[in-house]
Amino acid sequence: MSQALVSQFDVGLFDLDGVCYLGAEAVPFAPEAISEAVTMGLKQAYVTNNASRSPAVVAAQLESLGIPAPADSVVNSAQVGSQMLAEHVASGSKILVLGAQALRDEVTARGLVVVDSADDNPAAVIQGFYPDANWTDLSEAALAIRAGALYVCTNLDATIPRERGLMVGNGSLARAIANSTGVEPLSAGKPEPEIFQIAAKLLNANRPFAIGDNLDTDIQGAVSANVPVLHVLTGLASARDICVAPIHQRPTYLADDLRCLLEPYPDTVVDGETIRVGNASARWTGEDFEVNGEQLTSSPVTLGLNSYRALAQAAWDAADSGVDSETLASALPNLTVSRDHGE
Ligand SMILES: [Mg+2]
Repeated sequence: MSQALVSQFDVGLFDLDGVCYLGAEAVPFAPEAISEAVTMGLKQAYVTNNASRSPAVVAAQLESLGIPAPADSVVNSAQVGSQMLAEHVASGSKILVLGAQALRDEVTARGLVVVDSADDNPAAVIQGFYPDANWTDLSEAALAIRAGALYVCTNLDATIPRERGLMVGNGSLARAIANSTGVEPLSAGKPEPEIFQIAAKLLNANRPFAIGDNLDTDIQGAVSANVPVLHVLTGLASARDICVAPIHQRPTYLADDLRCLLEPYPDTVVDGETIRVGNASARWTGEDFEVNGEQLTSSPVTLGLNSYRALAQAAWDAADSGVDSETLASALPNLTVSRDHGE
């Protein structure tokens, strides 16, 4: 196969932090690779749990980094949560909103009516991150949920990063309501599958794929939504994390960075006990891993891209055949992946 990976798909659902940018800087190769993928016909969407910045603000930031981002390309969990409401309750239903004005606007935009009291008999409660939330707001929501209102959260993140450190996130505030009512919320954020399914639907995608850096949000969410997912090593999860990932957090495609979008993706071939990717090979011997015929040593190792892909598949197959995770973990050194390192 010689076609670029990206040509197999019509919509890319990109994560932001660790994929497009890191803090104030673009991730290396992200602006060029996404621009080229868009030129080749991919529709791009940026999918984020963070609903505290509006899509227009996020789009402007991406554009300032050279990443093409029309205003409607950013999909946040406020939009997804509102869409979930619209799919669960009748048009014109009353919704008790705990959240910022942006969330209230999203709810209104979907033909629903925002109310502020449980006495209005809302059909649903939606809760988004909202620094001004207080006991009265939480209790109003609890009353509505006890009376039968559907309970939806934009995300269940336990923490929210702020300049002074990790503060109390939406998921932690939701625990107060869940604890008080005994009702667990539906979530519109990663790793729940809905954010991927609804983002794909909002973009009329036929063949969507996701791109992420974080195993327990991006990869797990895409896997559970049945959306193929490319992992890049420019953010949180390392190559070693990928090799030891449980089955529900394993990416479909392994990349070093977004340049892989524009390159053909090699087939993974099982050859007896050996996994072959391109000219690279890897094997679990029963005691340790061999990569390209050489035993992996315990010191940090640098691997080429296809060697990393072969090793990850060999490690997943060993885990699936019953080798215990501690044995595998102790056989895997810290890995650096470099495309300048041959296969
Ligand atoms: Mg990320």
